[in-house]
Amino acid sequence: MKTLTLTLDSASYPIMIDAGLMKGVAALLKKENLGGRYVIISDSTVAKLYGTDLEQSMKKEGLDVSLLSFPAGEEHKHLKTYTALQEQLFELGCDRSTTIIALGGGVVGDVAGFVAATYMRGIPVVQIPTTLLAMVDASIGGKTGVDLETGKNIVGVFHQPRMVLIDPEVLGSLEADEIKNGLAECVKHGCIADVTLLDFIESKMDAFFAGNASVLAELIVRNCSIKVDVVMQDEKESGIRKMLNYGHTFGHALEVSRGYATISHGAAIALGMVVAARLSVSVGRLSKLECDRQIALLERIGFKITLADDSVEDIIKLMKKDKKMIDGALKFVLLERLGKVDLDVAVTDADIAAVMRGMA
Ligand code: NAD
Repeated sequence: MKTLTLTLDSASYPIMIDAGLMKGVAALLKKENLGGRYVIISDSTVAKLYGTDLEQSMKKEGLDVSLLSFPAGEEHKHLKTYTALQEQLFELGCDRSTTIIALGGGVVGDVAGFVAATYMRGIPVVQIPTTLLAMVDASIGGKTGVDLETGKNIVGVFHQPRMVLIDPEVLGSLEADEIKNGLAECVKHGCIADVTLLDFIESKMDAFFAGNASVLAELIVRNCSIKVDVVMQDEKESGIRKMLNYGHTFGHALEVSRGYATISHGAAIALGMVVAARLSVSVGRLSKLECDRQIALLERIGFKITLADDSVEDIIKLMKKDKKMIDGALKFVLLERLGKVDLDVAVTDADIAAVMRGMA
């Protein structure tokens, strides 16, 4: 078992990573004694795969637990799902002694975290991520929320979990496309903070897709360490935490313009990182050689790097509505070199249009 600790002024919590951990979750929760009752929130896919078993094992430990689920998919990360879950909690008679268990990918983590943050003005949440993307990124750092049809992650709050419990073995049931999506966020971490992580991803690619548990566990630990380090320095994203948005300004706009059900978050971020890397070259920061290395890695993971069907004008308009605008200017997280970012770099519409047209 590898345990990392995320310490903030407001909270401190463990991130436990261990193959087979899922089997011990019920006993762990009983020992931690977080609340009088528990509600597992999951999506329709993960509820069937792991939710019912977790519920049963918690009951066996004598814990009072219920399981709620909503349809899988980013298109369900919206206010209607959030409201329905709040009403179900109230119907169940949940009060402030209830603890939410967020069991699923990043969508479940964000929705269930937001439900926990606001139900009766805030109750505890334990994150149990089940996708690679959620293990290496979404489950850590306390960002919770939902999308609007017109804007990604627009409604939400910070609400740190009490614990993050990661079992790399559950990745065994994940589709290869979801491994790809998780690797996109790993590439992000390598690009912004640790070039040796990129070396690792390049050298172990086959092992990730073959489901090699120990290599995946090492990947998860390395990525969680980067995220923990950044969040500990800047919980509410007033400075350095913005680096985690590398590729996201463009990626979020792409998710909205193509439609949440059409492009995955990971694929959108992969394309967003290519745009950001090319912008970094065009404004005279990153070398072309390093930009090409990032693109080659994303292509090797399996992402198709093309913006042939996307409207430059629509995407720029959407980015201008994004919450990362400051004083009306589009600001990007760009790369100085692989492993080192430049925050808040103002970029002109013409620069963005030129990069996008180069990817058509
Ligand atoms: P997801 O939650 O939609 O999961 C992808 C698919 O995998 C779903 O269909 C799900 O049912 C299925 N699934 C999950 N675990 C499985 C398993 N073990 N076996 C089989 N199928 C499984 O998508 P995601 O990529 O995990 O998360 C993307 C979301 O995360 C986006 O909404 C993004 O905005 C958010 N995110 C949040 C943060 C944060 O800091 N809060 C950071 C990064 C991303």
